Amino acid sequence: MKKCEFCGKQISYFDQYCDDECHIKANKFYEKGERFGKLFAVINMICVFGIPIGLFMLSFAREVGLTVALASCVILGTMLIILPFPTENMISKFKIRKAVKITRMIGGAVIFLGVLILLLALLIKF
Ligand SMILES: [Zn+2]
Repeated sequence: MKKCEFCGKQISYFDQYCDDECHIKANKFYEKGERFGKLFAVINMICVFGIPIGLFMLSFAREVGLTVALASCVILGTMLIILPFPTENMISKFKIRKAVKITRMIGGAVIFLGVLILLLALLIKF
């Protein structure tokens, strides 16, 4: 069976979406992707590198490293929640609605990771 591109409900082979509402929501999602996709990719790349770089710096520049790692986690996590752009792979597998939800959950997990790094750094003296 074919599935609605937005919500994943089963639909006939002639349709792409189950109703107009899903179609409108999917269009909005793609419009947002076009508008913010590049910004998302740049911030994403900086933060994904920032986390390990910050952690690496912890050993010789504790405060700077901690700030870099924590800021990367908070910025990346917040962005994933506000601008949840899943990968093409996730969209084709889960359809837009579920893929967006999963991306937001990953964002929450990244913020949690940042808090965890902060707590560990405060607990462990280098
Ligand atoms: Zn639908």
